[in-house]
Amino acid sequence: MPDAQPTAGTRTVQRLLTLLEVSGSLTRAELAELAGLPPTTVAGAVAELLREGLLTEFETAPRPGQAGRPPRDVALVAPPRVIALVSVRHGALRISLASVGGDPLSDRSEVVPTGDADPGAMLEPAPTLLLACLRDSGVSRERLAAVVLSVPHPRPGSGPSAPLGERMGVPMLVENDANLGALGEAVFGVGRGLDSFVYVMLGKGIGAGLVLGGRLHRGASGFAGELAHVQVREQEDGPLCFCGGRGCLARVTGPSVREFVERAYAQRLSVSEVFSLAAARDPGVRRLFADLGRTVGRPLADLCTMLDPAAVVLDGSLGAAGEPVMAGIREAIDRHAAPAVADSVRVLAGELGDRAELLGAVALVRQRALDAP
Ligand SMILES: [Zn+2]
Repeated sequence: MPDAQPTAGTRTVQRLLTLLEVSGSLTRAELAELAGLPPTTVAGAVAELLREGLLTEFETAPRPGQAGRPPRDVALVAPPRVIALVSVRHGALRISLASVGGDPLSDRSEVVPTGDADPGAMLEPAPTLLLACLRDSGVSRERLAAVVLSVPHPRPGSGPSAPLGERMGVPMLVENDANLGALGEAVFGVGRGLDSFVYVMLGKGIGAGLVLGGRLHRGASGFAGELAHVQVREQEDGPLCFCGGRGCLARVTGPSVREFVERAYAQRLSVSEVFSLAAARDPGVRRLFADLGRTVGRPLADLCTMLDPAAVVLDGSLGAAGEPVMAGIREAIDRHAAPAVADSVRVLAGELGDRAELLGAVALVRQRALDAP
């Protein structure tokens, strides 16, 4: 029978299936609590799903402090679906896959024309590359749940990316790259349990993502967290930034750590050599990264005074360079933020390294599924 309008029953079932897909396995009591539904409703729906063969049931080890017979867990029979992250950076189109549970699966990239090429052309090879990624991970196309396009600018509408989602026959979400990093750390990394934090992306580009009240804050026009375009130098006649402003942070530091290092060392040292020197605690290189931290930390100090977040979380992809950058940020906050805020805000390293953006894409899709009415 066709089912145009979901009934309360099918909505309950959808919600339980989503929760199980996201969490792996759960007891009926845990499922009822997460779904916010009466235990009897959940027990009835689970019994039906077990009869239909969509769920499996098994005994688990008792939870700590639990007496008596352990409750039984239920889990989905079908393997978890996967999410693809698509990004274009430094002239390369990159696709990464992860399971809904947050396990990275495979990754491919391809050089694409840049310059004045239109964004649609840069995404042209994406479907082929995505199918190759699915093959690499042994995942059938039907298990692809959604594609997330990471963009370096404030989040636009679906724009040129819409055909990609259509061609793959799945929903296509577009999100700002720093927002994805923030979401990744919030759900899977160091931000778990923090009510509010500012995520600072430096590795792939300069940006920030704001998590307020446990949710990503995009702002009224989608511009929230555009750290790269905070004015840090009064430059009446300075070079114009592409955003239309002058003296933007991105003009002072370069658009990412890579460019920052390239500017500082010109032809003398490669980016990887500079990172190796940071790991070897070379004083000159560490000084350079501490300077970067202080420069980025100056506008962050004002942001901290205004927002009073629990933490500033630094992009975990910086490796050995992260430590001096964090020290520079800490110094700028201690010096320029309101003392009460400076005393309480923590400066933490992201735990997810290069995977923050990919896991952020997973978190975005999961949140959308769980928020669905
Ligand atoms: Zn700008």
